[in-house]
Amino acid sequence: MKQFLADFSLAELAAIFSPEYRAKQIFEWFYRQYGTNFDTLTTVSKALRSELSDRFETEALTIAAKQTSVDGSEKYLFRLADNHTIETVLLLMREGETNDDGEPIRQAQYTVCVSTQVGCKMGCAFCMTAKNGFVRNLTAGEIVSQVLAIKRDHNMLPEKGLNIVYMGMGEPLDNLASVAKATQIFATEAGLSISPRRQTISTSGISPKIDELGEMNLGVLLAISLHAVDNATRERLIPLNKAFNIESVIAATRRFPIDMRKRVMFEYLMIDGVNDDPRSAKTLVRLLGNIRAKVNLIAFNPHEGSSFARPDRAKMEAFQRYLLDHGIVCTIRQSRGIEIDAACGQLRERHTASEIVSHETISRESIKQRSMMLRMSARSFSFVLPRIWCSNS
Ligand code: SF4
Repeated sequence: MKQFLADFSLAELAAIFSPEYRAKQIFEWFYRQYGTNFDTLTTVSKALRSELSDRFETEALTIAAKQTSVDGSEKYLFRLADNHTIETVLLLMREGETNDDGEPIRQAQYTVCVSTQVGCKMGCAFCMTAKNGFVRNLTAGEIVSQVLAIKRDHNMLPEKGLNIVYMGMGEPLDNLASVAKATQIFATEAGLSISPRRQTISTSGISPKIDELGEMNLGVLLAISLHAVDNATRERLIPLNKAFNIESVIAATRRFPIDMRKRVMFEYLMIDGVNDDPRSAKTLVRLLGNIRAKVNLIAFNPHEGSSFARPDRAKMEAFQRYLLDHGIVCTIRQSRGIEIDAACGQLRERHTASEIVSHETISRESIKQRSMMLRMSARSFSFVLPRIWCSNS
């Protein structure tokens, strides 16, 4: 059976095709020239091209659907070889918008939010992905292919830099081997060349795996989905907290090696009457003492079947002010792609196998109509990815 080329690191390819520069030629053709048909790999011999096409598939996934928001963000539904589907989001931040550190952006920036599993085992109470259970882990190649497919789809210059956040469907640390390998394939200079410092791995808090990730010294950034400051509330939101409570997550975070110029990101999904009070802000300041932290406050966006409500903007701002006054970098996350099928899991939910259409791009007109319908039903959907952008999925 053929294997996916994207599942192979440069070192693994070099072990098959020596000398090493051969592997580099293959990598460059695949990741920088966006090659898919080995016949176009003309820098190697015909015999090698034929061997490569006998052994490898170049496409680990295909675009099943795509939605575009008026703010330029795009949500992709990818179909895997075994017919399962996953979601990936391309977020566009325009010049002048503020980044996670609250600083204005000088140049338009892309961030790709990748999925790491088909479904998820964690069962977070606010998450649409959790509702459909767990199917399987993605391979490293399937993670890498999400970014490659988007770069190809946009005809992006190979050297166009982007950030990667592992915050799509799935718990990244529940699939650590594939995630770790993907970070290295992404970082390979002959390939996509995305520095580990532009890759953020998010977790709902598997403390021993945070330690394991730290010991790997990959140089990646860490994000923790905290969402609550007491164990009873956090257990309600994230059942995993029963196994790894807040104290153990914070302790593991303190041990995590982080570049002195960087910070650990804490995601805090604010839910009306649950965790948005001044006392929670005070406890959060105490919990994060001595950690180089930045906190992202995310307003919960109600979705069908959810018993939670969105907090007041004034309460969020007061919460943010308290943190800032106590020396903690804190931003309020802007929702993106507000008009398109909301949070992680919804596009997948809507496109059952029989409904999938090819490259669906929603026109501005239909986006407008959809926005009107949403407003009429007094429901505000937001395109927020699991945990960071989708915490509310
Ligand atoms: S929020 Fe993330 S970790 Fe929790 S169930 Fe959803 S995908 Fe899994």
